[in-house]
Amino acid sequence: MVSTVDTHQALELANSGPQPIAAYLHVPFCYQRCGYCNFSLLADREDLHERFVQAVLVELSWMGSPQRVETIFLGGGTPSILNPRSMVRLLEALRQWLPLGGLTEWSIEANPRDVTESNLRLWRSLGINRISIGGQSFQDRKLKVLERDHTSLELLRAIELAAHHMPRVSVDLIFAAPGETLDEWRSDLQQVLACKIGHVSTYGLTFEKGARFYGELQRHKITRVDEQLELDMYNLAIDMLAAGGIEQYEISNFAASGQTCQHNQAYWNADRWWGFGPSAASYLGNTRSVNHRGTLQYLRRIEAGLSPIDEQDTLTQDQQCRERLVFGMRQRQGVHWEQIKTDFSESTLRAIQASLEHHISQGWIERVGQSVRLTRAGLVISDGLWHEYLTCK
Ligand code: SF4
Repeated sequence: MVSTVDTHQALELANSGPQPIAAYLHVPFCYQRCGYCNFSLLADREDLHERFVQAVLVELSWMGSPQRVETIFLGGGTPSILNPRSMVRLLEALRQWLPLGGLTEWSIEANPRDVTESNLRLWRSLGINRISIGGQSFQDRKLKVLERDHTSLELLRAIELAAHHMPRVSVDLIFAAPGETLDEWRSDLQQVLACKIGHVSTYGLTFEKGARFYGELQRHKITRVDEQLELDMYNLAIDMLAAGGIEQYEISNFAASGQTCQHNQAYWNADRWWGFGPSAASYLGNTRSVNHRGTLQYLRRIEAGLSPIDEQDTLTQDQQCRERLVFGMRQRQGVHWEQIKTDFSESTLRAIQASLEHHISQGWIERVGQSVRLTRAGLVISDGLWHEYLTCK
């Protein structure tokens, strides 16, 4: 039974505001769960892969007709885990339902172990042109602490192979792992620069509820690095990567000229996007929908012809304004404040403007032309600033 209600509703929403330009697919499988991860995924469940692909095919068909997008991002989880047969089925369906329009960026997140010559050839032949490798570190000690399932040698080999086959390569790196020193982090940055790739994403290790590391931190089984050291690591990344031609363009993202991730910019610019798979969010019209987080629940609902959507909110003008400012300011170019002032009413802007003026006076935000953006001082404390914009009255 196909849920025609969902088909009509999704299309109606997509047509009721700015057209969606991006699509995200969450592949909820990994070989094993890393200690710091609380994402929606199942480890070591190859038996469910084909069932998942079939469910995504059904979810895609509920759009009713093919929808042009400019970017597709296969994230997870570990999308590269799918075997060639499942991958071909999935990617061909994505090509059918989401024909790429102008920018044509199609990314896949990959575990270094899956970055083989034959996989790269297959992914490339099906249209993928950007790979984001979950490397996290070039040091075996740190990889063990993070409970990664690959070695530094495997990562280096994966990057080299990927650079041969993919027009664009990105690597994720984590800093502030338990016991990590500034010199160890410097060595990771030197190694990634030596790889001569065009994009790096880097994140300080977080201890999220639901991740095993969170419980271990509470029980004092592991310790987090000193706050000042973490800030020094972040600042070192900004400076070293820039010196190597990889400029910061967002709080956690760095790119050589022309290598920024177009897909993520859709989120930061508050554009519209489709989301598929467990826990994936869509933003259509002015409505944000989030699919059920549990993979089994997602599968069962789709198989029963029921909507996978768990939560749905229509954003008010006020919420849209706040989100546009907060997500926009994640980018180093900032956000076009004069445009926001034109797009929203004075009453919506009043409280936000007061927060903005306060942060400008503190030196955390600056005006540049018609835009506002984080200063270098604001960058390192940005996590603490957003709450005020999202809740100020
Ligand atoms: S960190 Fe990445 S590889 Fe590790 S469990 Fe989470 S999604 Fe999978």
